[in-house]
Amino acid sequence: MTRLRMAVIGVGHLGQHHARILAGLPDVELVGVVDANPMQARTIAGRLNTQAFDSHESLLDEVDAVSVVTPTIYHHAVASEFLDHGVPVLVEKPICRTVAEANDLIARAAKNGVPLQVGHIERFNPAFEELAKRPIRPKFVEAERHGPFTGRSVDIGAVLDLMIHDLDLLLSLVRSPVKHVAAVGAPVFGGHEDMVNARLEFENGCVAHVTASRISARPKRRLRVWAPEGYAGIDFVNRRLTLVQQSDEVRHHGLRLDQMDSATKARLKDDLFTRYLQVLNLDGDRKGDQLTAELKHFVDCVRTGRQPRVTGEDGRNALELAERILLALREHKWEGDTAGLIGPTEVPMPAGHLFSPPMPMPRSEAA
Ligand code: NAD
Repeated sequence: MTRLRMAVIGVGHLGQHHARILAGLPDVELVGVVDANPMQARTIAGRLNTQAFDSHESLLDEVDAVSVVTPTIYHHAVASEFLDHGVPVLVEKPICRTVAEANDLIARAAKNGVPLQVGHIERFNPAFEELAKRPIRPKFVEAERHGPFTGRSVDIGAVLDLMIHDLDLLLSLVRSPVKHVAAVGAPVFGGHEDMVNARLEFENGCVAHVTASRISARPKRRLRVWAPEGYAGIDFVNRRLTLVQQSDEVRHHGLRLDQMDSATKARLKDDLFTRYLQVLNLDGDRKGDQLTAELKHFVDCVRTGRQPRVTGEDGRNALELAERILLALREHKWEGDTAGLIGPTEVPMPAGHLFSPPMPMPRSEAA
């Protein structure tokens, strides 16, 4: 089999891992890496025994597929040139800055008949893969995505940086348009919202509460789903899926408390998660990583012409919902009326300290 000639455009924090993984795939030849920072491109190329390029234009005729991992503001400009050259593109999330840009990329991919995949990596989390293949019709969902502040992606806020992962997962699970959006969000370090909560109502009656924060001490990425079929809980960090369903006895007859003798009633608490509710814990494969799975899937789609699991349309739909949440944030009235402060950048001033601030450490001790 001839090796697929690939390149990575943007080899910063995440792109260098795209390059490392692609360089290690037996059916891929990493022909080069590109970065706006030539030093960075040379460092990564040297490490992976490939060539460094200063601009993506030099690679347009040299590759069979590319991974675009530049900051989001450049996704459209870079990806559109490759698509116009008939080169399949994997573009990191969020697909673009705006829905109009995303629609343009989708149209270019369709016109040139090439795959366009978006890097919504949680779709490749084994716990989510396990859930996605089951017949669940979510009716109430809680999604939480918390992480520490990294100082990266500060050109965007927590909605486009973090929450967009859960928006894509929700849309792929619920499969219904969103009817109503309410949201509140606040910056902690200025600029954009660092934490946000949204309530989404879908046309099929599902309600979702989605929270994202990038100022949390510990990472937490969880999804909890209530459905007529049962409950599903995902811990994305530990790749664990917990499923709970009613036993057939309860499914058919309910919990007949009035017909229970006192001994059965006394054991109710102990029997709850065995006799009445059945529990299955599935631990996803911890050896293989999601980025490798995502890149292998892209390579496979390029080779076979199969539709990617996360299409340009999926990326656009998640972005469109993110834009509606951002709009709702901008309309939030902190004092309940239009006379007061509005939106995520005009948060009320603190009224005082919650506790006495600790004494600053003398410089000598701090060092
Ligand atoms: P980064 O700033 O660490 O890296 C971006 C790199 O691109 C830098 O080295 C920069 O010099 C280079 N660059 C800038 N403009 C360029 C251009 N026009 N051509 C070539 N190189 C260019 O950012 P990052 O954290 O690696 O994020 C990159 C992208 O990946 C963003 O879109 C981000 O949203 C996305 N991302 C996705 C995930 C995920 O979970 N899927 C996680 C992190 C980042």
